[in-house]
Amino acid sequence: MTIGVLALQGSVAEHLKLIKSVNKKIDAVPVRTVDELASVDGLIIPGGESTTLRILLDEFKLYTPIKVRVEAGMPVWGTCAGLILLANRIEGERPYFGLLDVDVKRNAYGRQIDSFVAEGDFAGMYVGMVFIRAPIITRVGSDVEVLSELDGKAVAVRQNNVLATAFHPELVARDNRIHKYFCQMVENA
Ligand code: GLN
Repeated sequence: MTIGVLALQGSVAEHLKLIKSVNKKIDAVPVRTVDELASVDGLIIPGGESTTLRILLDEFKLYTPIKVRVEAGMPVWGTCAGLILLANRIEGERPYFGLLDVDVKRNAYGRQIDSFVAEGDFAGMYVGMVFIRAPIITRVGSDVEVLSELDGKAVAVRQNNVLATAFHPELVARDNRIHKYFCQMVENA
């Protein structure tokens, strides 16, 4: 089983390292091309800057191949900017992939200096959550399962093969449990 991490911009190395730590039989590879995408069984879209990622995804001709694979059932996990790109609606902007029935508002927790760490439940596990200029999920569709909440707002959600977290699990040292959860999704797919 091979999991890809979209490697155009953002926190790539941390995700690769944590996926590799889950199980010796699971490989993690960076994805920059259509051929690399074809070789993976699941994809992580990391945090970074969604405006930059949009431009690069278009330039690297990855929009349609990713959309087609996810619609065909390939598991995808978007963290922070990745969540923004997956959302059906983005306040004040046109959506990108539109593969997850939520509305988001970008940078809604404040500026870089307002970054914070929290703790909370994720699908029954108590985990650390790092928020860096994170989006707020302002609406959750009826087919979307809420896996984590913070102050009454959804911060981790899943709709079938689409997982998204507003926070960055890859920045919590030595904790690969959410990566393990995603590997399980890929294994089951
Ligand atoms: N603020 C970024 C955006 O709107 C997301 C930040 C992140 O991924 N940590 O795209």
